[in-house]
Amino acid sequence: MKMVEVRPELHLLQLEFGQAYLWNDAGVLTLVDTGIATSGGEIATALEELGLRRADVKRVVLTHFHEDHCGGAAEIAGWGDVTVLAHRLEAPVIRGERPAPPPLFTDEERALHRSLGAHLLPPAPACRVDRELEDGDLIDFGGGARVIHTPGHTDGSIALHLPHAGVLFTGDTVAHVGGQVMPGVFNLDRDEMLRSFRRLAEIDVPLACVGHGEPILDAHTALMKVL
Ligand SMILES: [Zn+2]
Repeated sequence: MKMVEVRPELHLLQLEFGQAYLWNDAGVLTLVDTGIATSGGEIATALEELGLRRADVKRVVLTHFHEDHCGGAAEIAGWGDVTVLAHRLEAPVIRGERPAPPPLFTDEERALHRSLGAHLLPPAPACRVDRELEDGDLIDFGGGARVIHTPGHTDGSIALHLPHAGVLFTGDTVAHVGGQVMPGVFNLDRDEMLRSFRRLAEIDVPLACVGHGEPILDAHTALMKVL
């Protein structure tokens, strides 16, 4: 696990596989995504290094149901008084009530998926969802986080826009790999994901925190350039 301080109140946790974000509102912690099924221990270590406690985590927001984003959620949900949030359309999959629909791979994506070892990831343990989100909902952290429904990568993928903080959490609709900003891969509906990417690109925000890769500075300009 490697930690990157993005802002004093925002850390990127680079996990064994995947990544998560930790937002600290004066000791009240929000996690955006949770890595894979075994990531709970790594996230606990990150908290310790920051002088925080597992019981300080009050909220887990899941951008979508993929096992490298909600894998750690079931464990973390048991750490204390934690509210788990996800879009209404993702909740049945996260709860284990419905099987996870597989991505519709392009040919290149199929090879990439294998080379990343993504086919070997442990399935996400079922996790309760305490609050089902809709487009436009407001979540009380970082001065107010607006939910943006970004279907395509999965049906209930979401982004979070924090206008006061000037931060956008994109989930897997945007990636930033090898210095390159790009639309996400392994989608259920690539065309719809591209429409969601455009919606995010149009937001005038300085910093985008993506599902895979380093945060994007000057995000609005960087995303618009991809279109
Ligand atoms: Zn994903």
